[in-house]
Amino acid sequence: MPSLHTTAVHAGHIAPKPGQPSNPPIVTATGWSHPEMEALDAALGSVEAGYVYARNAAPTQEAFEAAVQALEGGAGAVAFASGMAALHAALLCALDPGPVAAASGGRPPPRKIVAATELYGATQTLVKHLAALSGASVLWVDIRDLGAVGTALRAEPAGGVLLFEIISNPLCRVADARALAALAGAAGARSVVDSTFTTPYLIQPLALGAGYVVHSATKYLGGHGDVLGGVAVAAQGEDAEALRRTRAQLGSNLSPFDGYLALRGLRTLPLRVREQNRNALGLAQWLAAHPRVARVYYPGLLEDEGRARAAAQLRPGHFGAMLAFDLAGAGRAEVFACLERLRVIQRIASLGDVATLAAYPAHASHRALTPQQRAALGIGEGCIRISAGIEDLDDLIADLAWALAA
Ligand SMILES: *Cc1c(COP(=O)(O)O)cnc(C)c1O
Repeated sequence: MPSLHTTAVHAGHIAPKPGQPSNPPIVTATGWSHPEMEALDAALGSVEAGYVYARNAAPTQEAFEAAVQALEGGAGAVAFASGMAALHAALLCALDPGPVAAASGGRPPPRKIVAATELYGATQTLVKHLAALSGASVLWVDIRDLGAVGTALRAEPAGGVLLFEIISNPLCRVADARALAALAGAAGARSVVDSTFTTPYLIQPLALGAGYVVHSATKYLGGHGDVLGGVAVAAQGEDAEALRRTRAQLGSNLSPFDGYLALRGLRTLPLRVREQNRNALGLAQWLAAHPRVARVYYPGLLEDEGRARAAAQLRPGHFGAMLAFDLAGAGRAEVFACLERLRVIQRIASLGDVATLAAYPAHASHRALTPQQRAALGIGEGCIRISAGIEDLDDLIADLAWALAA
């Protein structure tokens, strides 16, 4: 098996034949002509037999999908217009008992979603919406509490869907992906892992037993803050096919240009993530020693509660590129003043970019919650989230030193 550094550079290339481009062209066609009607008929009957219409399959996006599948493993990757579109399709598929299972009286219809309390905000809303429509119940659990997760999975109706992220937003709490996938498997549940924060460079959840892995390609996979996209990868071939069918129904396809940009970004994923992880560790250590900082949340710190779980499952020496810290005694006004002094770090409510980004969870990702609800999650009004980029660490530290000096 080649290293991920090598796979990222080469995966998804069109087989280099004489006279063919060495990189996938941006194919904007929405329809493909077939001179022979029998060939068109075969293509209409099976995606494998050729392209017909772009909502079913299209070559530029397929090159990106092939590269993601090479990095994540699994039976097939399906690209979407955003991370939320990928999660939507993955949850619809995971909740669907499937025609074969239903007809054979096999797997019972999943009527339950066991979900981590700290899921990305839009994902929480989506889960509630899908549960209301499908009649499924939702059990929200502290994903670090394996006993509670097991109890929720075994509760009637047994099975269902387990949905979690490996590193949480913004406090970087760490879930044990292998143990959770095993718990789901033992309970007959299907696990959906949002690995946006971790990327395939740090962990490959399908190899640990997960049923689906989902990414917001807007973040690390694309990596340059210039493409909105998502991708879902299924462990089983029939589940990958179901994802493709679902995408064709929803029409939530990635565009050819965004597919090109996402693949272009993916080529340097290992280099970027390695550097971002180094910078995050450096920033976390520096912040932890700063008198105005009450607490730093980063699993790479020796004293962090999630360090052992992170070290046991992530690429050795890597703890992610997201961190958060509490400004001592600060509320919204002090946080705003601090963030407005930043000159290198950008005030952008996104993450995974080559540029280092700072965000204020209380007015961005967790805006919909009351201060009491945020406090219950441990997110204080002085909490600042950082997505480490690839700039020089000394420049980032100097920027934070200036911002915190006021
Ligand atoms: C951004 C994000 C999403 C949503 O992705 P979009 O591309 O914005 O739709 C989902 N999960 C996590 C963890 C994210 O950070």
